[in-house]
Amino acid sequence: MPEPRAREVVVRAPAKINLHLGVGGVREDGFHPLATVYQAIALFSTVTVVPADQWAVTCRAEPGIAVDQVPLGPTNLALRAARLLAERHGIEKPVAIHLDKGIPVAGGLAGGSADAAATLLACAHLWGLPTDDLAGLAAELGSDVPFGLVGGTASGLGRGEVIAPLVDNGEHHWVLLTFEDGLSTPAVYAEFDALHDGLEVPEPVIPDALVSALASGSSTALGGVLGNDLQEAALSLRPALDDVLRAGREAGALAGLVSGSGPTCLFLARDMAHRVELADRLAGGVAGAKVLTAHGPVPGATVVGLTLLDGTTTDGRVE
Ligand code: ATP
Repeated sequence: MPEPRAREVVVRAPAKINLHLGVGGVREDGFHPLATVYQAIALFSTVTVVPADQWAVTCRAEPGIAVDQVPLGPTNLALRAARLLAERHGIEKPVAIHLDKGIPVAGGLAGGSADAAATLLACAHLWGLPTDDLAGLAAELGSDVPFGLVGGTASGLGRGEVIAPLVDNGEHHWVLLTFEDGLSTPAVYAEFDALHDGLEVPEPVIPDALVSALASGSSTALGGVLGNDLQEAALSLRPALDDVLRAGREAGALAGLVSGSGPTCLFLARDMAHRVELADRLAGGVAGAKVLTAHGPVPGATVVGLTLLDGTTTDGRVE
């Protein structure tokens, strides 16, 4: 049994967006093959874990983020992550997990996956476990969880869990329009299937033009090659998103697209100044939307606070 080394660990994990989300036809096991390019952006969930008598999860959110859909029982993805890690290492010491959510729920930003990635890293530190082999467990928890551990800009193949970092020489500035009323990822995939019923769906690939645009570091080049195969399905379920995308284009965005399974809409700005201008133009212009801004890429799950057993507090950079 490993030796516990901390009495509180705080980890921050970023939201993800998909710069490209290529989706293939549904397989017999119900999954869709993906070829995606993820980018981690500066919108975070902060997870605190402490030893406790019972497994527990609590949740708080920043204003405008509705958490009523976040389960506080055994199906919570953060709790599942902690219990899976404990089970694999024969640990029988429960933890209490507190989620501070800065990522809209069911928004196509992988907020639950960020919580799970952060919890894996936090519990590994709390229990004195190695942190370099968490990717396998992450993939068991969900397709987007492994990317939450690494962050940056990366390709995702398979179901999205086979991650390879990509060279991204840019700092990209995004304006996000988020909505309290989320979209269910399974419902969006079901709509994708219905829209492609009887059609040949090509194998998804990572576009070379996107890889080149990222290497060039140019947001303008990036704006020309963004794409999301789920966008049509998200718009079919939520037609009002078409007006949101139009509003972003009219406000001068380099490009606009739905994030993952939606309903969050992403708008790419030329630079920081343009991002501020774009956010100002969109603020209040779309009913029911909250305007957020973030840059990317940023690193994946990171320890930001660690209280050792002797009470010494660090910023997490001890090893
Ligand atoms: P996906 O990662 O599937 O694209 P998403 O980013 O659109 O999903 P999430 O914020 O991850 O959305 O939430 C999806 C659903 O997952 C929620 O509606 C909720 O029922 C469930 N869920 C389980 N655990 C969590 C968690 N820790 N935080 C948020 N949602 C959770």
